[in-house]
Amino acid sequence: MPAMQGLMQDRPLMISSLIEHAARFHPHTKIVSRLPEGGMHRTDWAGMHRAACQVANALQSLGVQPGERVGTLAWNSWRHLALYFGVSGSGAVLHTINPRLFAEQITYIANHAEDRVLFFDITFAPLVAQLAPHLKTVATYVFMGARAHMPALELPGLLCWDELVDSQSECFDWPEFDERTASSLCYTSGTTGNPKGVLYSHRSTVLHSLMELAPDTFGVNSHETIMLIVPMFHANAWGTPYAAAMVGASLVLPGPHLDGQSVYELMRDEKVSFSQGVPTVWLMLFQYLDAHPEIDPRALGIKRIGIGGAAVPRAMLERFENQFGAQVVQGWGMTETSPIGVISRLLPKHEALAPDALIQVKLKQGRGVWGVDLKIEDDDGRPLPWDGRTWGHLRVRGPWIASGYFKGEGGSPVDEQGFFATGDVATIDPDGFLQLVDRAKDVIKSGGEWISSIDVENAAMSHPAVAEAAIIGVAHPKWQERPLLLVVPRPGQSVTRESMREFLSTRIARWWLPDDVLQVAELPHTATGKLLKTRLRQQYRNYPLPTA
Ligand code: ADP
Repeated sequence: MPAMQGLMQDRPLMISSLIEHAARFHPHTKIVSRLPEGGMHRTDWAGMHRAACQVANALQSLGVQPGERVGTLAWNSWRHLALYFGVSGSGAVLHTINPRLFAEQITYIANHAEDRVLFFDITFAPLVAQLAPHLKTVATYVFMGARAHMPALELPGLLCWDELVDSQSECFDWPEFDERTASSLCYTSGTTGNPKGVLYSHRSTVLHSLMELAPDTFGVNSHETIMLIVPMFHANAWGTPYAAAMVGASLVLPGPHLDGQSVYELMRDEKVSFSQGVPTVWLMLFQYLDAHPEIDPRALGIKRIGIGGAAVPRAMLERFENQFGAQVVQGWGMTETSPIGVISRLLPKHEALAPDALIQVKLKQGRGVWGVDLKIEDDDGRPLPWDGRTWGHLRVRGPWIASGYFKGEGGSPVDEQGFFATGDVATIDPDGFLQLVDRAKDVIKSGGEWISSIDVENAAMSHPAVAEAAIIGVAHPKWQERPLLLVVPRPGQSVTRESMREFLSTRIARWWLPDDVLQVAELPHTATGKLLKTRLRQQYRNYPLPTA
């Protein structure tokens, strides 16, 4: 007997509904951008809707068909936001390209995605000129600015934003179609092998946005002024542009200016209440504030800082709490998880904890949210207990988690129950708090046991003389691998092997202590701001440990 169907309306979940809602219910809420070509730009959600309609009309005039990919090489700005809604809303697929990747990787990605149109900011004009001869499918290049700002470029089918987009009608009838239709495409950084495409849908994006509004996650709401430091080419800026539209939150888009001073000034001038970014950008902000002790960060009045993409060091959490008076909301996720996987929010019972125990809870990556199933497994795929101690391979499942990669690259990443293999190693405690131990490939294997690089790096970064730290495994004749710690000291400070080992000895297990400590001027980062461990491992492959 067929199941009895409910009698509720089967309305598809469409990205266009977000911008329509924002324009109708929050027309005058501001969207401020610092432009890549210089100067500021101010609009509001009503203006953004008009711009998105113009984008949709522009794509139609170019003959872009539903499902065709439209690439962007762009910073966070109102034009990029208009593309978010205009491209996906009209049925095409927005392909946000990470411009920090190597030129060969970008060429590979744009060809693999078969981008038909490529929109680019002024910053990337030289890059586009270099790439264009190798891009096989791009028929139209669109400079995201006025002709007056356009650098001299010889590109086939080159247009400017003001001519192509600004001249279009400000009305567009958003089409309605299957909510499972692809909406945007984002390639993972591919620290090993070619980047792989994660293809989001209208449905996954809208459901993920709803989750971003929950007070137990990022709590995005209409009272918020959100500065999006996380780039719009990194997992859709963590989905926040969509969530902001869903509730009509105000957005501040910093363009290419992510240095400490620019971030600080924009926060101050636009009265930002919430901001999201990876730890490296916050380190840049801290460096600026270190050099300007006359600034009181508390005067910013910022209430919450969302951090993800890499572990939040204890020193960072404490500084935001104590100096800024801001709450840190950590999240764990990946491009493949849209990216919300778990979010760190306390439970009522934690309010009674002593300060140090409380910090330990806050430093965990977070608890599962509705929609994301978690499990940890041993090497043979057997489930492991949620005791907060046992480490295992993390797998996740849910309506905004990838089921595979674009064009089937890399085979199937999901098991029989549909759980996606994250490549991360984690513990889960009885309250469902996940703590990330490492990326499976970054774990240091010493004498058959594993050392968590995240734990050691966190401990090292709480040393007052340390600005940033990275730990890697170096070959060791007896132990297979032993840890080497690389530290970037704060200006005018220094760290020795002895002083660091002594500092760490009360914070981590004795056998986790690094065999050596090296001071370096800087550490390499990936295109999404993570420590580039592959480069470090290669560079220090033959490093002679004093214990070897
Ligand atoms: P990339 O393209 O740089 O891999 P992702 O955002 O997809 O970008 O990276 C996801 C990975 O980042 C996760 O698998 C995990 O290893 C790491 N990560 C994300 N959030 C955290 C966090 N809060 N703490 C520690 N590691 C994190």
